[in-house]
Amino acid sequence: MAPPAPAPAHVLVFPFPLQGHINCMLHLATALVGAGVLVTFVHTDHNLRRLERASASGSSASPSLRFLSVPDGLPDDDPRSAGGLLELLQSMRAVASVAYRALLASLLSTARPTRPDHHDGGFPPVTCLVADGYLPWTIDIADELGVPVLAFPTSSACSTLVYLSVPRLFELGELPFPAGGDLDEPVHGVPGMESFLRRRHLPSPFRPVGENGVNPRVHVLSKYTFHSGKARALILNTAASLERPALAHIAPHMRDVFAVGTLHAMSPAPPAVASSLWREDDGCMAWLDGQADRSVVYVSLGSFAVISREQFMEVLSGLVATGYPFLWVLLPDMVGVSQDAVFQEVARAVGDGGGKQTRIVEWARQRDVLRHRAVGCFLTHAGWNSTLEGTVEGVPMVCWPFFADQQISSRFVGAVWKTGLDMKDVCERGVVERTMREAVESAEIRWSI
Ligand code: UDP
Repeated sequence: MAPPAPAPAHVLVFPFPLQGHINCMLHLATALVGAGVLVTFVHTDHNLRRLERASASGSSASPSLRFLSVPDGLPDDDPRSAGGLLELLQSMRAVASVAYRALLASLLSTARPTRPDHHDGGFPPVTCLVADGYLPWTIDIADELGVPVLAFPTSSACSTLVYLSVPRLFELGELPFPAGGDLDEPVHGVPGMESFLRRRHLPSPFRPVGENGVNPRVHVLSKYTFHSGKARALILNTAASLERPALAHIAPHMRDVFAVGTLHAMSPAPPAVASSLWREDDGCMAWLDGQADRSVVYVSLGSFAVISREQFMEVLSGLVATGYPFLWVLLPDMVGVSQDAVFQEVARAVGDGGGKQTRIVEWARQRDVLRHRAVGCFLTHAGWNSTLEGTVEGVPMVCWPFFADQQISSRFVGAVWKTGLDMKDVCERGVVERTMREAVESAEIRWSI
């Protein structure tokens, strides 16, 4: 008699509860399901409720992908905004870790899961975990319970390499940056990146704090990154064609490294499951249908950036001066004024009849927008997902980076891949107008992998 077929692999995926991490991990989950693997995807309770509210499609469209949740430990009315990132990190470690450990223990046994809403659904015991780079303690829990784990920072290989280079940057005396020093000084301590990396391109926590102080986040994130070396392997949402030298320099620090990206491009359509924390505006696709080819500027600063009224006015004035139609994603709490005030400013800036020229939405189906023939330029904050999405679709980008790894991604776009222009920290109407025109009109910038 033939031996029974082995149980299928069952992977537990748990993203840090921010939109960029969720999207990236969901693309990974979709790819795994496509390869015949069962996936349990863990959200926070708060996000699972938001996803259900924001989506018409419900939870999982595949019997091989199910969603469970754990508490994030924050009060329900906490805004979970950029300013509260530290609290979220801490509360995930203190509260979510306990629930996550209990969940994993229950999914490893044949016993029923610990919460009545955590049905086993006929899934076999978990065989592997995916650990988000912001949740390094999941590696320890995996270790303790004897489950293989893959570390998955959802940012670029270069940003991982920068955090692995922190000890060298100190040895070379390149850290801390002198307060008030020239941000255009080259950085030598990140191997393979010497020819183009300047101080200004290192992640935002590297900027000096007070008199020659180092932001404690540099040490924390560096520690997290080194911790990935304890996992069976590091996987990155990148490709050798994009970041070959960074991948080579990461390898000695890890047990193994795999470039598994670009993940969103591997699924033929966006995952047929709820993935957006905000309700997507479908009307903007019909609006794009009415625009000329490559005429529209798509503006999205991701899910986390916040801009002042002054910055908003500079970008708006620069955009209006170009005369290009624009589609702008503006979350309700993104500008430091009410949404009504935002609409009034836009109406005043574009004048009579400007409605045909502009559309402001709370959230869009970004991947579909970037693929639309009418989109000719992407003004982006250069979050890693957005950078990859713009690059894959071959839409020229203008990068206006805010924080985290966005400065590095902008540098790659402007100086390494040359798929767009880096506006750096500058937010001034004349610069916005000039850069936008150059991105749309230059024949040299459009490129895709
Ligand atoms: N996104 C979207 N609709 C929008 C704006 C953004 O679907 O209106 C998606 C975008 O496609 C990307 C993610 O949200 O996958 C944002 O991730 P990213 O890493 O670019 O930026 P973050 O939000 O983490 O700063």
